[in-house]
Amino acid sequence: MTEITRQDCELMDREDPLASFRNEFELADGLVYLDGNSLGAMPKAAAERASEVVHQEWGKDLIESWNKAGWFQMPEVLGDKIAQLIGAEPGEVVVTDSTGINLYKVLYAALSLNRSRDVIVMEGSNFPTDNYVVQGLVEQMGDQYQLKFVEEDEIFDALSDEVAVLCLTQVHYKSGRVLDMQAITAAAQAQSIVVIWDLCHSAGAFEVDLNGCNADLAIGCTYKYLNGGPGSPAFIFLAQRHHGKALQPLTGWWGHAAPFAFERDYRPAEGILQMRSGTQPILSLAVAEVGLDMFLRADMRQIREKSQRLTSLFIQLVEGRCGEDGFELVSPRDAEARGSQVSFDHENGYAIVQALIAAGVVGDFRAPSNMRFGFTPLYIRYVDVWDAVDRLHEIMRSGLWQEQRFHQRGAVT
Ligand SMILES: *Cc1c(COP(=O)(O)O)cnc(C)c1O
Repeated sequence: MTEITRQDCELMDREDPLASFRNEFELADGLVYLDGNSLGAMPKAAAERASEVVHQEWGKDLIESWNKAGWFQMPEVLGDKIAQLIGAEPGEVVVTDSTGINLYKVLYAALSLNRSRDVIVMEGSNFPTDNYVVQGLVEQMGDQYQLKFVEEDEIFDALSDEVAVLCLTQVHYKSGRVLDMQAITAAAQAQSIVVIWDLCHSAGAFEVDLNGCNADLAIGCTYKYLNGGPGSPAFIFLAQRHHGKALQPLTGWWGHAAPFAFERDYRPAEGILQMRSGTQPILSLAVAEVGLDMFLRADMRQIREKSQRLTSLFIQLVEGRCGEDGFELVSPRDAEARGSQVSFDHENGYAIVQALIAAGVVGDFRAPSNMRFGFTPLYIRYVDVWDAVDRLHEIMRSGLWQEQRFHQRGAVT
């Protein structure tokens, strides 16, 4: 096989149909940002939008903006935009609260659809907050439910007529492995199990087809691949057929059938709006919409294709140029089974990631030994992949990572 050169990568960039999107992001020269799977980069237009909301809508128009600027409808307006990226219909998605809070809400709603059963199945190695939230709810329900953790190869065997809800994250946060949503949903539903999909590392990374898979409920965040900004609100999908039946328990006024009737008693809204609870972070929603609008101008199939090429190139270059340095591929080698990230295990992973960051290549580290690199096709170029591996190669060759300063840990890794 002929070796790939930086010139080859430049050529790929010239032929990239998504190339022009990069200019729409704020990214420092020389920076290779491979952490968009944790916090997406900032669309330049987000700063203008934030300024407009602060200075005009809040600063001048004040409370009038709930109507005049459409603040009140933003959760559903943004939800309809996300719906287009995840295979849902208008009115099936709402943007609200955080992923963890939304999991609490949809789990309760899902359990209410299957009241005669008492087992919840999850993947134990999932991103822990999902486990913690489910454990919290199980405990509050007085141990009426039993939580069963399985691993990937045990999912199908765990499906039985005792299981009420199966709750899975489609793309594993460490390995980037993609679960077969279609097959798993079908197998679970054949046993009348309600399925919750966490799309945190799916939405914006590749085409998701919730309705094509007959999905029941889903959640996901907007600050990763969707570039919504730090702490931007998450989303909930509830299939139309469950509207009015699967009800979430945080029954605040924004989920009421008539919020401005100020009735004494709660009456659930009939559609997706019941998934809301209370007043939403308007600044965050406004900024998140900028990222979503960019996605609506891009072609999700082109995004997936480029993502697969970027991640494959990264694997090939790391294994080719740093083959003797002890990196072990954790992500699936098959691009179809891989999300938009690549992970390698390395015993000195933490220090190597710190040395990379100092060299302008931002990835992240997940304990105990996982080096994680996210590839966002809207702003990562093929030359960025080349430069990242070139700097990694230099760090390993020179032993730079061994310096003491790369071994100190911050609060957030
Ligand atoms: C990123 C992520 C979250 C984030 O949850 P927050 O409530 O936003 O802190 C939850 N679950 C998974 C699987 C994630 O990847």
